[in-house]
Amino acid sequence: MTVLPYADALAAYDPVLGLEVHVELNTTSKMFCGCSTEFGAEPNTQVCPVCLGLPGSLPVVNAKAVESAIRIGLALNCTIAEWCRFARKNYFYPDMPKNYQISQYDEPIAYAGWTEVVLDGEIYRIGIERAHMEEDTGKSLHVGGATGRIHGADYSLLDYNRSGVPLIEIVTKPVEGTGAKAPEVARAYVTMLRDLLRALGVSDVRMEQGSLRCDANVSLRPVGRSSFGTRTETKNVNSLRSVERAVRYEITRQAAILASGGRVIQETRHWHEDSGITTPGRNKETAEDYRYFPEPDLVPIAPSREWVEELHETLPEPPTVRLKRVRADWGFSELEMRDVVSAGAVNAIEATVAAGATPQSARKWWLTEIARHANEVGVDLEAVGVTPQQVAEIQALVENGTINDKLARQVFEGVIAGEGSPAEVVTARKLAIVSDEGALAAAVNEAINANPDIVDKIKSGKVQATGALIGSVMKQMRGQADATRVREMILEKIG
Ligand SMILES: [Zn+2]
Repeated sequence: MTVLPYADALAAYDPVLGLEVHVELNTTSKMFCGCSTEFGAEPNTQVCPVCLGLPGSLPVVNAKAVESAIRIGLALNCTIAEWCRFARKNYFYPDMPKNYQISQYDEPIAYAGWTEVVLDGEIYRIGIERAHMEEDTGKSLHVGGATGRIHGADYSLLDYNRSGVPLIEIVTKPVEGTGAKAPEVARAYVTMLRDLLRALGVSDVRMEQGSLRCDANVSLRPVGRSSFGTRTETKNVNSLRSVERAVRYEITRQAAILASGGRVIQETRHWHEDSGITTPGRNKETAEDYRYFPEPDLVPIAPSREWVEELHETLPEPPTVRLKRVRADWGFSELEMRDVVSAGAVNAIEATVAAGATPQSARKWWLTEIARHANEVGVDLEAVGVTPQQVAEIQALVENGTINDKLARQVFEGVIAGEGSPAEVVTARKLAIVSDEGALAAAVNEAINANPDIVDKIKSGKVQATGALIGSVMKQMRGQADATRVREMILEKIG
């Protein structure tokens, strides 16, 4: 696969983004029936005639889902339709037993909005085309074959538990003018949306479980031209870092095609996390292919203005306002806050602080130790396997002197490896700092006896030489000593 170096691609072409985010709502029941939406149940145990599409069954709209859709629309500064309908989107796929999906087409519940994302201290305004309601499909599991895809599989299994789970699809207007920052803007937008949806309390927004999924549309046009190039749509990118990587890859791939005089094909593409590339999916359908028509089994939705106004009162603060407030609350510098935002760690730090840690210690652990693990494994911070509660617990262990920062890193390792709670890891790995003065004194004596030249230096007033003795003691104690106490003891002995 030929790609153009990123800098060369950007010198010649101007990227335009379009982001479609699907969010699964956290309603207790499905969009059009009473089945549970609980994640992780045995296959096909949360189904009924409606979500299995059996003949004669009739859907009924979930009021809570409509409420969530309106609140999402309002939080994205959209106009809320006074009257709108559902539509049938017709296509055949085994994970969709009705052979159509109930969605919205030309009458979305929310439209013409905007939002803002902050990246490196700069604000980018993102236009929102629409936010509409629809139902999720079931899940296919292709068994055999190398890739988990249908091609080459021996057989396929179907699980309809997800069939009919309420979804909101949020579609941006074309995002222009981001230049070389396009991949990072895409990531910042999805991060902002995740945090906003969580603050709204409408979804658990777990990208790794598929409750937040992003399709990234990318097109290029020669620098200076205003008309759009042909776009591709990379489907179901399931982590924040993959959003950035997939957009970056598509820019370099399309640039290579255009630079060699070729034409980009309008199609959907699959993102491959392991190899970091996209490959062709199906040719993109047009709206006509779906033969949309108004859903005859459902009445229109006509939310009263009073209700919309009531829901408006329940909105959380806008993302940019929230960032300003937490920066002030936490006492972070502009630069510290910038790193926190670009790492997507605002929520994690907020929850860690709520669990009792200081903002600076929360920032430190999320941006160093946990970020390092996330990078190594190639996942987002929140998927590393440490909860904010556990981070606060580890920090508390540091503050009460049970462990020091260095030992805390081993506690993180243990927690991530699934060895239990921070306290359990400390016990199992025998990490607690030795407070036994006798053992410490023995190690101090040993260090003093073994290093007469250093002792002489300290006696002649070079107090900084104490560091070498402290190091020697810490080594004997396998790092499990309080360095301040060790220093005191050395100076007492020598002085
Ligand atoms: Zn059902």
